[in-house]
Amino acid sequence: MPGTAPAIVIAGAGECGIRAAFALREQGWDGRVILAGAEPSPPYERPPLSKTGELKPICDEGSLRQADITFLPGTEAAGLDTAAHVLELADGRRLRYRSLLLATGARARRLPSGRAPVHVLRTYADSVALRGRLTPGRRVAVIGGGFIGLELASSAAALGCAVTVIELGPRLMGRAVPARVAAVMAQRHVAAGVDIRCGTGVTGLAETASGVTITLAEGATVEADVVVAGVGAAPETTLAEAAGIEVADGIVVDTHFATSAPGVFAAGDCCRYPHPLYDGRPVRLESWRAAQEHGAAAARAVLGGAEPYAAVPWFWTDQHDYSLQVAGLTDAASGEVVRVRPDGVEIWFGLDGGGRLVAAAAAGPGNSVARDIKLADMLIARRAAPDPAALADPGVPLKSVLRAPVGG
Ligand SMILES: Cc1cc2nc3c(=O)[nH]c(=O)nc-3n(C[C@H](O)[C@H](O)[C@H](O)COP(=O)(O)OP(=O)(O)OC[C@H]3O[C@@H](n4cnc5c(N)ncnc54)[C@H](O)[C@@H]3O)c2cc1C
Repeated sequence: MPGTAPAIVIAGAGECGIRAAFALREQGWDGRVILAGAEPSPPYERPPLSKTGELKPICDEGSLRQADITFLPGTEAAGLDTAAHVLELADGRRLRYRSLLLATGARARRLPSGRAPVHVLRTYADSVALRGRLTPGRRVAVIGGGFIGLELASSAAALGCAVTVIELGPRLMGRAVPARVAAVMAQRHVAAGVDIRCGTGVTGLAETASGVTITLAEGATVEADVVVAGVGAAPETTLAEAAGIEVADGIVVDTHFATSAPGVFAAGDCCRYPHPLYDGRPVRLESWRAAQEHGAAAARAVLGGAEPYAAVPWFWTDQHDYSLQVAGLTDAASGEVVRVRPDGVEIWFGLDGGGRLVAAAAAGPGNSVARDIKLADMLIARRAAPDPAALADPGVPLKSVLRAPVGG
């Protein structure tokens, strides 16, 4: 490694790690920045993998070089000595750091499938292995009715596959999407010919001559040529745990992304942080926008920034020709208000016990829900407690609700 002054080192070259590296330069850090990423490919965006399957680079080599970021692809960080401030790479190199950012993301959970071939989708390599098998007429079974499984179901249906989605819970997207918004997407899937089976678990997977036989809890079977498990992701915390850093379903950080070890920060899908907008409740997000924002905010914190990170959680998912967006934390709501727009699109607002807007969600064709969710996002950030009648009334522009004094 050129130079000897301790560098700022980032482990993980996904959305968060890359954004952090560039943000360090934007914030004026002129020392070394070293970015070690386990994957061999140039940094790429994950969201297209379940939608179009394309490889969309986050940045090119030229911009990394121009920003003087030392990028080490195919390089896994294998050990961490927090006392000596040294990150050990799998190839034996040892990097002394001034500050270390763990941006190690998450990995796909796997089903115990025995010998039956079951795909997951987290990396470009996963995507390549899967996409080649999604040919017209193939029977595709998606286990898990969450975002990634459903996005994949929609792209497989568009490619002419016969798709079945098997979901253990009583409905789709039960974790983060309100029931009536999830129902809009479920209807869209059914209209596109996707066979949705909720409230049933998989009890067996057996490889057959032509594919896989899936046995469901009630005894029914589903025959599939291709099986994909979309059963969530687990935070990648191996390095932190081995180094004795506090981990609790994510690397535990404060509102400045600082871990329990001095000089070590963590951000993106791998971290769990107390959210100031939700009474400091610990949250772990799996969201593209959050990963970007975390990267930029963690870079500021590494350089001594004092502002706590309090951005409103937000994510989107595209399924068929519909887009769904959620702002805030839906499970923080104890009450709901629904606005039915003249075009039939419903905007769901979640209120807490004090009437404060804590979440909003909607699904509709194209980009039709983006503006309303953006305005709701701004209301959530302001800790507004809007008049529920105004929220429900499609004749009252949300912009005017935003202009109302905070708290009413
Ligand atoms: C298929 C798919 C579709 C998605 N679609 C959407 C969407 O529509 N909307 C949305 O809001 N979000 C979406 N997401 C979520 C979003 O992509 C993630 O939240 C985001 O990528 C998280 O970024 P990250 O940098 O924290 O982690 P990651 O993107 O997981 O990157 C972490 C990187 O760190 C590397 N790494 C791990 N351990 C080590 C180590 N020890 N040493 C070195 N490198 C290491 C990993 O190999 C990986 O490259 C999607 C995710 C997937 C998988």
